[in-house]
Amino acid sequence: MIGVMGGTFDPIHFGHLRTALEIVEGCGLTRLHLIPGNIPPHRPQPQASARERFEMLRLAIGNEARFVADARELERAGASYTVDTLQSLRDEFGTRIPIGFVMGMDAFLGFRSWHRWEAILTLAHLIVVHRPGYMPDPADWYADSRVQHNCELNQLPAGRIAFQAVTQLDISATFIRARCNSGGSIRYLLPDRVRRYIGARNLYQH
Ligand code: ATP
Ligand code: MG
Repeated sequence: MIGVMGGTFDPIHFGHLRTALEIVEGCGLTRLHLIPGNIPPHRPQPQASARERFEMLRLAIGNEARFVADARELERAGASYTVDTLQSLRDEFGTRIPIGFVMGMDAFLGFRSWHRWEAILTLAHLIVVHRPGYMPDPADWYADSRVQHNCELNQLPAGRIAFQAVTQLDISATFIRARCNSGGSIRYLLPDRVRRYIGARNLYQH
């Protein structure tokens, strides 16, 4: 199975990176693509440029060979729809390989408002990770799609929903941007190389 994690990554932080690594190891993924969005359809526009967000992602990945810094959404004009991104991965890797799209509980709670969300489930599984402050939705719209054991995801290319417990890190990019803006330290919330890049370019200061 290939993993995919989309996001604004404005900036990437240890909440993303530790989650990604635990999914790779917990679900037996060969690799996980981290894909920054160009023009996110569901939220305010990022503060750092697409190039800066991609460079921070690259710095954060360093020599972790199982993570791929994937620029496909940045190379596409217009809004970044996950359904189009997953289709482009299918075009590249074929219809048979299982793909797991990783998202935090906060994103999952709004999933059914995403552009063509039902088509997304024909292209990938969802791997939902818990995130501090977000409780699972009591609605049972996904009861029929939910797997009991995450190894079941490897038996089909797409269409199942798995919940995965990961180390809970209450870190958000919003908090990091606010700390930069108020002149506070962001050390230990994200990799030092990313922190130095933010400092050198005076990102998130207004
Ligand atoms: P912002 O505060 O700007 O929204 P963020 O920290 O939520 O930033 P995003 O780029 O919005 O980061 O998130 C990308 C993906 O990573 C989403 O699926 C989100 O749920 C997940 N995610 C972000 N932070 C964490 C975290 N600390 N733990 C688990 N998942 C996370
Ligand atoms: Mg977010």
